[in-house]
Amino acid sequence: MKQIINIPPAATKRVVIVGGGFAGTELVKGLLKTSYQIVLFDKNNFYQFQPLLYQVAMSGLEPSAISFPLRRIFRHKKRFFFRMAEVTNINPKQNEVETNIGSLSYDYLVLSGGVTTNFFGNKELEKKAFTMKSVSDAIFIRNAILENYERALDYETDEERQPFLNLVIVGGGPAGVELAGSLAEMKKFILPKDYPELDFNKMKVYIFEAGPKILSNMRENSSTTALKYLKKLGIDVQTGIAVQDYDGENVKLSTGEILKSKMMIWTAGVTAKRTRGMDEKMFGPGGRILTDRINKVQGADNIFAIGDISLMQTEKFPKGHPQVAQVAMQQARHLAKNFSKIAKGKQPVPFKYIDKGMMATVGRNLAIADLPGVSFKGFFAWLLWSVVHLISIMGSKNKVFVFLDWATNYYVYDPSLRLLIKPKLRNGEA
Ligand SMILES: Cc1cc2nc3c(=O)[nH]c(=O)nc-3n(C[C@H](O)[C@H](O)[C@H](O)COP(=O)(O)OP(=O)(O)OC[C@H]3O[C@@H](n4cnc5c(N)ncnc54)[C@H](O)[C@@H]3O)c2cc1C
Repeated sequence: MKQIINIPPAATKRVVIVGGGFAGTELVKGLLKTSYQIVLFDKNNFYQFQPLLYQVAMSGLEPSAISFPLRRIFRHKKRFFFRMAEVTNINPKQNEVETNIGSLSYDYLVLSGGVTTNFFGNKELEKKAFTMKSVSDAIFIRNAILENYERALDYETDEERQPFLNLVIVGGGPAGVELAGSLAEMKKFILPKDYPELDFNKMKVYIFEAGPKILSNMRENSSTTALKYLKKLGIDVQTGIAVQDYDGENVKLSTGEILKSKMMIWTAGVTAKRTRGMDEKMFGPGGRILTDRINKVQGADNIFAIGDISLMQTEKFPKGHPQVAQVAMQQARHLAKNFSKIAKGKQPVPFKYIDKGMMATVGRNLAIADLPGVSFKGFFAWLLWSVVHLISIMGSKNKVFVFLDWATNYYVYDPSLRLLIKPKLRNGEA
């Protein structure tokens, strides 16, 4: 395989990072304070803020408000190189990664490629269900929702129209809950105005959660409050029921029932996508990469894994840390400090997660927050959620745009992004 060119040989050691998400970008920031040469690979040329994807899907935010070009974040930085490329293979014996644009050697390799949606091997589901892991997924959802209401108008009977009005969300985690709440607000404030010919009392939003409760990672009272909020907003939440199959219209439930819906959004699980070349014993449950307490991949000398893709088992987290942004960022900052220690010949220090809590929003003024030792709900939780997310978004311009969008939508709930834009293929087909 040809070598990647235009990256000079490293005067010091080279750290190659695979994935510029929460973990990868935070690691680059930390490593810029050291003398290492840094090479970042990402299959996209931008970083995406996944917690707000649902707002792009619901036409509430522009895609660019939650995405940020990776080259822009790190421009004018010496010893930093970015390549938009997908890493396909790792060759630990040669200390080399292979990508779709060529191969590159490393002194240290850090895997921070995150996770992908888990369909538990059901290929039919994978083909027909919508996912929400990237900005392009969110745009697909936005287009499909709008298109379904346009198409619903072409049918005469309620029975024919109903599958276009039903919307099924699979998974009662934060992504499913936030999406459902947002859909309920669209149903209440926007859709009846845009489509006066349709009866939106007939629009039904379902959440199917196979487990016994929604928001299972949150405290019992927060989960109960979220359920109460969702019911208040008219969402049909069904726990203990799994979706077994979907052909694009028929949702087959574990009860044997079939529900008709033209749209099913799958948020029911994630799995780490394997990169070829790694030893089978390096992988743990969910395809996550097993690491020791300094994020070094088990059985490797100079390969590390951080963020969602990694699995560090500790006394407090025997099944690994939660796959959330805070863990990814804290592990990245910690690893950068450890790299600095390694460069100075010092011993790296084990990682310890500082749990700052969990939050989820169900709708306007309706949120729940579990902070260490205390839980909030309602307006204050919603305000806290908004402030924390605003602070976390990358780039001052993006912060301002998101704030303005939120402020406007709070008072005049009528976002103007309900555009069905479908890129044309070169031959002119949509
Ligand atoms: C819809 C949704 C809502 C969420 N809400 C919350 C929330 O409210 N709070 C919270 O804390 N967490 C939330 N999360 C989880 C949070 O986003 C993740 O924990 C976090 O993104 C993990 O960071 P990461 O860097 O490990 O992976 P990611 O941020 O996923 O980054 C991985 C990067 O690797 C790149 N990549 C992958 N494979 C390759 C490859 N082979 N070659 C090159 N590049 C590659 C990808 O393009 C991506 O840029 C949510 C996630 C989703 C999907």
